[in-house]
Amino acid sequence: MNDLTYIKPQNLQEALAELSKKNEATYILAGGTDILISLKEGNIKPQYLLDISELSEIKGIKQEGEYLVFGAATTMQSIAESPIVKEKLPCLVSAAIQMASPQIRVRATIAGNLVTGSPIADTVPMFRALDTVLEIQGTGKKREVKLDDFILGYRKVDLAAGEMVTAFKVPLLKANQKANFIKVGRRNALAISVLNMAVKLTFAADKTVESARVVLGGVAATSVRAKNLEAFLTGKKMTEEVVLEAGNVVLQDATPIGDIRATAEGRKVLLSSRMVRLLEEFIN
Ligand SMILES: Cc1cc2nc3c(=O)[nH]c(=O)nc-3n(C[C@H](O)[C@H](O)[C@H](O)COP(=O)(O)OP(=O)(O)OC[C@H]3O[C@@H](n4cnc5c(N)ncnc54)[C@H](O)[C@@H]3O)c2cc1C
Repeated sequence: MNDLTYIKPQNLQEALAELSKKNEATYILAGGTDILISLKEGNIKPQYLLDISELSEIKGIKQEGEYLVFGAATTMQSIAESPIVKEKLPCLVSAAIQMASPQIRVRATIAGNLVTGSPIADTVPMFRALDTVLEIQGTGKKREVKLDDFILGYRKVDLAAGEMVTAFKVPLLKANQKANFIKVGRRNALAISVLNMAVKLTFAADKTVESARVVLGGVAATSVRAKNLEAFLTGKKMTEEVVLEAGNVVLQDATPIGDIRATAEGRKVLLSSRMVRLLEEFIN
């Protein structure tokens, strides 16, 4: 702890320059709700902490064509309260508001929720189901990567030393698309998820499902696409029978483990029943 230097850059360019100079020894500090705990518990030993929480270039939400673009340091509370998100992507409000408590949400950022690679991070399934693209910057270089490809494994993401996530580009929902998120915790507030899940469906003119994106958190080492369920829903009308059967099909997509929050068997029962509840909203 004695050797730790705190750095607060004035702008993004300065932040990227600091990151590239100091490389692996530097840890990014955004809201601090994860990293400060890891630091206190001695799980990480950075030499430099680079505070990006107030960089205006990576905060805020704006519409660019067919996308809503979220600065990576946008907080959960800003999403929950944003009129444009409420209008264009209300499913993200639903995900943000179910995360932690108001005290955490005013600090916690979307990039911070993602970069730790936790399989139960609450906003990841919804951003994934929406087919989000991440913007990543290092000094002198910028790249884009789909969130589906960014998550590599348990607590592993596609981010090199010297790089930071700068924005989330989320396609707007079209008139024939619907999406939502559900979290299952052991209590209503301040609960780490036992499971979480997000669905986005695109409907054809005859109301059959043209395409489906379903993402599950808490059922494997990373959040996962429920490919069997996606295939099952495609081409079907969302009826009560289909939704009930979907509750069985989703179990083919999950290999949950038991831990302090739920047994593996308990997770399966919850996954099936909560998926049915989530999909009931899509019956038309
Ligand atoms: C009491 C409590 C309750 C919680 N409840 C929940 C919950 O219900 N659901 C949930 O999902 N999480 C929960 N969390 C975890 C945490 O709040 C979230 O994961 C949060 O979104 C982390 O964001 P942050 O800005 O605080 O990240 P930080 O702690 O600042 O950073 C987390 C990690 O991301 C890296 N990082 C941050 N920003 C960037 C960037 N732009 N580019 C590259 N790397 C970056 C940091 O270097 C660090 O490794 C809880 C935490 C606490 C303390």
